[in-house]
Amino acid sequence: MNAINAITIALSKGRIFEETLPLLAAAGIVPSENPEQSRKLIIGTNRPDVRVVIVRASDVPTYVQYGAADLGIAGKDVLLEHGGTGLYQPLDLKIAKCRLCVAAPVGFDYAAAVRRGARLRIATKYIQTAREHFAAKGVHVDLIKLYGSMELAPLAGLADAIVDLVSSGGTLKANNLTEVEEIMPISSRLVVNQASLKMKRDLLQPVIDSFAGAVQ
Ligand code: AMP
Repeated sequence: MNAINAITIALSKGRIFEETLPLLAAAGIVPSENPEQSRKLIIGTNRPDVRVVIVRASDVPTYVQYGAADLGIAGKDVLLEHGGTGLYQPLDLKIAKCRLCVAAPVGFDYAAAVRRGARLRIATKYIQTAREHFAAKGVHVDLIKLYGSMELAPLAGLADAIVDLVSSGGTLKANNLTEVEEIMPISSRLVVNQASLKMKRDLLQPVIDSFAGAVQ
């Protein structure tokens, strides 16, 4: 765990960082730099006892699980894949909203393929969540793990369909894909290291309460 009298918050760059700023402000915390401009991975704040570490979105739960960060903000998609061991998830922050979907090339009759009991090749970063989803529906799938640009997989002949996050739908449209099934709505959650919450409740609880008050 980190210093007993200080808080470390794990955030990812981009949308989560931007949408977390108002929540931090509600807790009286203002980061001293923007990670988009600075290449620093540890960012101070106006509070000498609070710092932010900038990590990949999928690494946020790991930093918090092992106590390298006391708090973190991660998408539900990331938390489902991680499994959530060692983490409290006290708040849905309702930020970085999108949905996890199955998408396929326009013209591919996904529903008919499922009805026929066809074995589908699905490319995704979300192997665990996709496996559970298709197993629950009794759909036969071969899952292919990718780390990015899932939209390319059906176009290049790697897969029949993908499981990916969709927000505006613009990326699917630009690649002649269409959403064929919504798996679940996604938003970002506050995660808290369980030992930190016990040992540093005086420091952490006010921050958690301020976040809760600021959630739209
Ligand atoms: P859009 O074109 O607005 O539907 O956005 C889709 C692209 O942005 C896909 O590549 C997604 O993986 C990514 N994306 C959308 N929403 C999120 C989010 N909340 N967190 C991370 N990635 C996202």
